[in-house]
Order: sequence, then C-alpha cells, then structure tokens
Amino acid sequence: MIRYDAVIIGAGHNGLVTAAYLARAGLRVLVLERRHVVGGACVTEELWPGYKISTAAYLCGLLQPKIIRDLDLEQLGYEILPKDPAFFSPFPDGRSLFVWRDDAKTAAEIAKFSSRDARRYPEYEGFLERLATFVEPWLLRTPPNPIRRRWDDLAALTRLGWETLRLPPPDFVQAYRIATQSARDFLDAWFESQELRASLATDGVIGARGGPGTPGTAYVLFHHCMGQAAGKRGLWGFVRGGMGALTQALAAAAQRHGAQVRTNAAVAQILMRDGRADGVVLADGEEIAARTVVSNADPKRTFLDLVPSLDGEFRREVESIRSEGVAMKINLALDGLPQFRAAPESGMGPQHRATIHIGPTMDYIDRAWDDARAGRPSREPFLEVTIPTTYDVSLAPPGKHIMNIFVQYTPYRLAEGSWTALKESYADRVIETLAGYAPDITSRIIHRHVLSPEDLEREFGLTGGDIFHGEMTLDRLFFMRPVPGWADYREGLGAWGLGLRTTQVVLLPAV
Ligand SMILES: Cc1cc2nc3c(=O)[nH]c(=O)nc-3n(C[C@H](O)[C@H](O)[C@H](O)COP(=O)(O)OP(=O)(O)OC[C@H]3O[C@@H](n4cnc5c(N)ncnc54)[C@H](O)[C@@H]3O)c2cc1C
Repeated sequence: MIRYDAVIIGAGHNGLVTAAYLARAGLRVLVLERRHVVGGACVTEELWPGYKISTAAYLCGLLQPKIIRDLDLEQLGYEILPKDPAFFSPFPDGRSLFVWRDDAKTAAEIAKFSSRDARRYPEYEGFLERLATFVEPWLLRTPPNPIRRRWDDLAALTRLGWETLRLPPPDFVQAYRIATQSARDFLDAWFESQELRASLATDGVIGARGGPGTPGTAYVLFHHCMGQAAGKRGLWGFVRGGMGALTQALAAAAQRHGAQVRTNAAVAQILMRDGRADGVVLADGEEIAARTVVSNADPKRTFLDLVPSLDGEFRREVESIRSEGVAMKINLALDGLPQFRAAPESGMGPQHRATIHIGPTMDYIDRAWDDARAGRPSREPFLEVTIPTTYDVSLAPPGKHIMNIFVQYTPYRLAEGSWTALKESYADRVIETLAGYAPDITSRIIHRHVLSPEDLEREFGLTGGDIFHGEMTLDRLFFMRPVPGWADYREGLGAWGLGLRTTQVVLLPAV
C-alpha cells in the first residue's frame, strides 16, 4: 500500500493551497474531497444550463498575492476583475452612496451627506491601510504559543510586542479599539453621517454572529478591509469564470507539482495507531496510510466527527467553539438588470457593478440581528447583493444575468419550525425587501436557488452552516484559534486526548 507523506482531508481553497506547497516541496500528497467537485465553498456550479454560479462565496479579496505568485495562478487561469465602484448603498428616501476605488470620487459622494466625514474619510482609510500593513505579515506566520512558551514562542511574542510598540501611538489606540469594540462604537467615533456609518458597518457584520452594536464586530470590519488580491487594499473583485476558477487553478497548481486529487472521497475517520495519526479511512472502507494528516474540514468536524474517542480538555475546548451560521445564500438567474429607485437611469449603470447593500441604518441591521438572537430570521433582513455578469458575460446566456444575494440574519437554530419548511417563503421575504429598492426585481427572476444555513452545512460540510469555520471573535483568533495552545496547526492529539505526545493532525485555518 502506498504511504503518502501527507493526506489532506478536503479540497477547499485552503486544502488546495496546502497541497500545492507540500507537493512543490517534494512531498507525496493526496487530497480527498467528499464532494463531486473541488473548491469547498469557493466553487462555480452550472445550476441551470448556461448559468455558471458561484454557489457560495462570490467575491475575492483576501487571497494572498504571495500565493498567486508562488503558484503561478494567473498562468493557470486565475484572473481577478476588480470591482469599481466598491459599494452602492441605496436609501429609502431615494438617495444613495457610492464608494469608488478613486478616493476623490468617494469623497465627493460622502460630501452629499457630510462634508466633515468627506474630509475625515482619507484619514480613516489611511489608518486601516497602516494597520493592515502591520497585521498582514502575521497572517502568513505560525502564531506563537503563549501557553507552551518555548524559546521560539517567546521570540515571536517579543517580536509581536516590538512591532506593536512601533505603531504610532494614535494608531495603537485605534488598533486596540478595533480589537475590542463594536463596529458601531468604532464608526461612531469617526463619522457623523448615518448613511456612511451604515455602509461601512456592513463589513463588520458579514457572516458574523452579531449586529453593528455587538463587541468584536469592529475586528470583523477590519478583517474585510485587508487583502490586496484586487490590486488595492480592502477592495474586492470577481473572479473570471466564477470563484471556482480560482480553486480549479489551485488544483491545477497542486497537480502540476505532483499532488493527487480525488473527489467523491469522503473521509469517515482519521486512523490512529499507537497514539499517532497514521492515515484515514474513507466512507467506503478504503484505508489510506499517511505520515501526516492535514484537515481542511472545520475543527468541530475534524476532531469531534473524524477522530475516534477524543476526550479530555482538548475535546471540551473544541466543543466550545461557537460555530452556528447566521447567513443564507440566494442565487438568481435574471432576464435583465433590475432598476433601482435610487439610480433610475435605464441600462447598466455603476449601481449594478458595485456590491449593493440593503441595510440603510445601523439600527436597521441591529434590529435584524435582534430577531436572529431570538431564533427567528430577520423580519427586515440585511442584504449584500452582487451581479457578477456585469463584469463577466461568459457566466450567463446573452442578455441574461446572475445575482448573488447574501442574506442576514438567518439563525442556524430556529426557535420554531425548520429551515426545510421555511426557506422558500423566507426567500420570498428577501426578494420583497429588495423590491422595496428595485421594484422590477420580482418580474426579472427566471430561476432561484436558495441555500439555508442547514443547506450550507449539508452541501459544503460547514458545521452549523458557519462560513468562518468558527466565530472570528478575538477570543477565537490568532493564538486562540482553533483552541488555546494549539494554534500552530499541529494538533497534539496524543498529548490531550490519547495520552501520548505526538503532533500529527494539521488543522488549516479558514480565511
Ligand atoms: C455562502 C457563503 C458565502 C461566502 N462568501 C465569501 C466571499 O464572498 N468571499 C470570501 O472570501 N469568503 C466567502 N465565504 C467564506 C469562504 O468561502 C470560506 O472562508 C472558505 O471557503 C473557507 O475555505 P476552506 O478551504 O478553509 O474551507 P471550505 O471551503 O469549507 O472547504 C473544506 C472542504 O472540506 C471538505 N470536507 C469536509 N469534510 C470532509 C470529509 N470528511 N472528507 C472529505 N472532504 C471533506 C468539504 O466538502 C470542503 O470542500 C463564504 C462562505 C459561504 C458559505
């Protein structure tokens, strides 16, 4: 039997990046994906003939330029189509706010609401840019372990402390606030315009279990302002061919370096022998031996479902990871572009090429979250809408369009009823909400595909339908992720669960 150097459970983008780097380093690598297609939540699927849909994730921004370069992804078909404008926020009174790539154009837009905010905006952008420059290198480093405290951990912690102290004092204060505050408190201190604050707050709540008023959402806001994949920090783009074109390029990179990729290959169990991970068993009983097992599945699925008889403190820590999604995805095929009340010109306009935010005030979004806390989907949902065909006509038949709607909040665990019974009628409610801003949307829909949090769990293997593989709050980030003491991607199952000191299951972070 072949013994692989590394078996990777899951062909999501993180699993494929790892496969490509390990294979490039000369290791014998096998990737095992339970679905029929690689990509995880980063896929393009032809849901209806001629319509190529990014079924789950729909925009790219955080992919590290180093990975694009190292793996020659552009040569393998990856191309980003930078979004401009970045945002379009229509308001119920018929006004709207655009955020553009060009700072001067953005300032002119903001001045419609507040000239003071227009003057402050470049300062805000400058601060986020400096903070991102400080944080981004740490995303490529193994977090230090302040519990183990070996010399390399202490050296890394010292370096972190030193780099932090080199931040200019005002930036240090703002960075501390970003780490601890709500998006609402953070933005209230910067800006006076309700419209601008609501537009910017959306980055703080996308995918997150919380409204703008929930502490911790300022960090989520900042997290979404990092990344330079679309050429300018914080601005995102569409991938030509849909998000699956990225993961297809990653799979090609991995295979080019000799990795094997198998689909329809669900791992049922991680094989443990003498306290070490020794390979995997597939759902059909096939055993595959490996020196290292790398898991791209989320931590709960990895440790609670795939590792036999794991117990003790480590298990309790994994069980305590909060992993319950609050988002739904609706994919639509349209026979034309909807017309927005706030941008009534006919034909394609910048409003169709931006990320469209339906969430006119922070109070509106907080109310939407309050519903979810009570276990019911938001009566007035917050929506993030994109139309990728305004950049890439190859995704749909001539004259037709695709619309992605990311919907919040739709709690995984409902106080009453089930998602199976509720999801289509709730999708009607979402379309009705959008129709409040673009009345002809209802008549433009040819096909509709709705993914509830339960569907996201079932289809993509995301525990609790959580798009982040576990909440992105400060108590669960950096050296606390996935659990304190085990953030170096090498989980010493033996030490915690099985009584031996080994480090064999490598867990990939979801980013
Ligand atoms: C609806 C939705 C919208 C999103 N929108 C965006 C967006 O616009 N931009 C963005 O950057 N991010 C977005 N995200 C988040 C992003 O998709 C995730 O962060 C990302 O997919 C995580 O990548 P990953 O490779 O770590 O894991 P995943 O993509 O979750 O991949 C894990 C893989 O492991 C496989 N797997 C699990 N268990 C097993 C097993 N037992 N055996 C074999 N295979 C297994 C799964 O099938 C899956 O393919 C979105 C997510 C969702 C769900």
